[in-house]
Amino acid sequence: MKKMLYILTIIVIVLVIFFLIRGLRHENQSLERKDITQTENPVILLIIDSLMDKPLQKAIKEGRAPALKYLTENGHYYPNVISSYPTMSVTIDSSLLTGTYSDKHRVPGLVWYDEKEKRLVNYGSAKEEVFKVGMKNVVEDNFYHLNHSHLNRDVKTIHEKLAEKGLQSASINALVYRGNEKMTLKLSKLLAKFDIMPEKLNIETPLLFSYGALAQFSPKNNQNNQVWKKVGFNDKFTAQELKYIIQNGKLPAFTIAYFPDLDQEVHKHGPTDHIDAIEKIDKQLQEVLNTYESWDKALQSAVWIAMGDSGQAKVGKDKSKSFIHLNKILDHYQIHKITEPVKQDDQIVLAYNERMAFIYNLDQNLTNEEIVQKLQKDDRMNLIAWKSEADIKVVANGQKGNLIFRPNGDFKDAYGQSWFLTGEHSILDLTVNNSHIKYGNYPDALARLHTALNSHSGNYIIVDAKPGFEFAGDGTPIHPGGAAHGSLHKHDSLVPMIVTGTEATPKHLRIVDLYPWFLQLLNKGD
Ligand SMILES: [Zn+2]
Repeated sequence: MKKMLYILTIIVIVLVIFFLIRGLRHENQSLERKDITQTENPVILLIIDSLMDKPLQKAIKEGRAPALKYLTENGHYYPNVISSYPTMSVTIDSSLLTGTYSDKHRVPGLVWYDEKEKRLVNYGSAKEEVFKVGMKNVVEDNFYHLNHSHLNRDVKTIHEKLAEKGLQSASINALVYRGNEKMTLKLSKLLAKFDIMPEKLNIETPLLFSYGALAQFSPKNNQNNQVWKKVGFNDKFTAQELKYIIQNGKLPAFTIAYFPDLDQEVHKHGPTDHIDAIEKIDKQLQEVLNTYESWDKALQSAVWIAMGDSGQAKVGKDKSKSFIHLNKILDHYQIHKITEPVKQDDQIVLAYNERMAFIYNLDQNLTNEEIVQKLQKDDRMNLIAWKSEADIKVVANGQKGNLIFRPNGDFKDAYGQSWFLTGEHSILDLTVNNSHIKYGNYPDALARLHTALNSHSGNYIIVDAKPGFEFAGDGTPIHPGGAAHGSLHKHDSLVPMIVTGTEATPKHLRIVDLYPWFLQLLNKGD
């Protein structure tokens, strides 16, 4: 009997995998039919998820990253570009693509609560969660809503802006991609019948659009797009698509190529011990550079930018200490269960973004201050922030008093932003001298925190974990002995950037400042 059950289970698993593959794979797009105008200085932006300065330097020194070494030696190296906040890919990429923080682009994090629809939006943080939230929801949020409902229509992505100016662009495996071209993604009819996935999605993309097995050009990528290879969301797939576009002489003015693999390795092995993984991604970059007669020729043919999107901070090994269970700290209240819709009597909804979390207060009789008091008892969090009318209030565990700030005041920072500021500057590690603000452990802290607290509607508190710790909820991914990101801390927030083929620099070394610089590189600034 047991054996029968076992065999049956195997058969069911094989069938599910078979239909998933059948369902997700379809005909390649034809590159031939795309009419590409050659431009003089095309820009190729290589985003390497979770690439960090020190490990990159180490890999280069040890001779294990020849492509990145070559780019660095023949270009400019910026070790500390500031990411956006929360330091989660979808929010960062939205900043990169729109030149705005989340108060304008409106993608608050990987997981957040939509007050209007009374549901938790989750772009897919873990397999366990997918099963809890439902595959269909994640597919729709990730493939569709992220780009078409959530990413603010009032801001233009770099793809949309370039198209307006008559320039073409490409997006390879980037999660945020909205452009001016209409396209229909056909998903599985069978899976649609079982209500696992929508049957098709009408999306708006740049002229060249690759998105794992759902949208690919290179026939060679049929080897790289299987379900067990994350349906093509891997470095090999990205490199192959880029190579194919270059080989066919179809490189548009601007190309974003996203390399996702390193992130998982850093999560697993921690912020320092992942040189092997950098070596692997470098091999893919070598393949891309080898598409040209020589690497010199590659550099002459385009402006190459290689960069990370967020850093990662260490997470302790000890499972009993390293994970902050907010539902335990707040067990006094009625907390929403992830497997169920938000109910009338739920007082609190939790949205976990690894080392950062949004805590939604749905109860009008409950003050944020009361919740904050409970949170403050746990010393593994380094900041707790919430909105009070136009002000942002911040407290830190282990520090007395609070810090209150809002935009437009007598204090200025290096980014041309001015602030009203009162209370304990040390809470956000600010140094204030002659009304000039200098940031310490939390780069561009005021703007990043302010925008995160104005990124979507609702009454919510933001919490950040200290390095060494991570928030953990029901089914959220955890990384004991590894690393994670999400917080405002510099470990999560600083990324390296290598730039070749131009002397022009962005106005400030922040991801949010790259958009006008991209336009400038394409001689289309305004
Ligand atoms: Zn990650």
